Amino acid sequence: THFGFETVPEAEKAKRVYQVFENVAQKYDIMNDAMSLGIHRLWKDMLLHVMHPQPGARLLDVAGGTGDIAFRFLDYIQSQQERQRRREAMSSQTPSWQDISSSYSTEDGEGDRESSAVVCDINKEMLKVGKQKADNMGISAGLSWVVGDAEELPFDDDQFDIYTIAFGIRNVTHIDQALQEALRVLKPGGRFMCLEFSKVTNPVLARLYDAYSFQVIPVLGEVIAGDWKSYQYLVESIRKFPDQEEFKLMMEDAGFYCVQYYNLTGGVVALHSGFKL
Ligand code: SAM
Repeated sequence: THFGFETVPEAEKAKRVYQVFENVAQKYDIMNDAMSLGIHRLWKDMLLHVMHPQPGARLLDVAGGTGDIAFRFLDYIQSQQERQRRREAMSSQTPSWQDISSSYSTEDGEGDRESSAVVCDINKEMLKVGKQKADNMGISAGLSWVVGDAEELPFDDDQFDIYTIAFGIRNVTHIDQALQEALRVLKPGGRFMCLEFSKVTNPVLARLYDAYSFQVIPVLGEVIAGDWKSYQYLVESIRKFPDQEEFKLMMEDAGFYCVQYYNLTGGVVALHSGFKL
């Protein structure tokens, strides 16, 4: 075996994961850009594109770390609202079916309904960095930060329209438990969306990706964050996570419907989606 983490017993895993993210919190964003060559931004943009949230939506972003998904969510909704206002402004000129349909949804104030995003993470240090980022960007409306465990969420049943977990679920000790909790806190009709490293399908790309993961990532971890071990853990946890089809089955077993996935960058990352009915 390559790495010491592989033999970590289950009970130890949560503690190790906490230490890893406590260690990397301050450098987390820089490392993400460095290790993925900035591509993690495109994966996250893709998540929002597929989600296509509407004004008024309530998001819970679990393992939300430094807030990347929540920021994109609020930003996406804001641009949706601006687009809607422009349509309204134009509707006095040439009415079309689009203007008529948008006026239905704005007459009762729906266009400006409050959307909200809750970032939930087990790690205080990660949330602290996220909050700081939000302060710097001047974002506060509709955004909250909550310390909590994906396996035991501190929220009531049927609260959220969308549950996201981006590059977080592989860190959770009992994935089935986290899926149960996701199902519990979603409203009926709500959507579960997960971004996670997955199995590269193209054999040539798979070999390149292997070389990159095992030889480049820990070195970058050492050089940029002074932390080889945390980045060894990262590579190893990616290898151990179930592949696309396996995770799809786990979601179905948990009780999600219409489960589907999209491969991003040849399966380096998969985006899984499912609904609570
Ligand atoms: N979602 C963010 C992103 O995409 O940039 C952060 C992802 S980061 C790789 C993984 C996060 O999962 C860390 O912030 C870690 O603290 C969090 N985490 C690990 N185990 C968790 C658990 N059981 N419950 C909630 N969060 C957890």
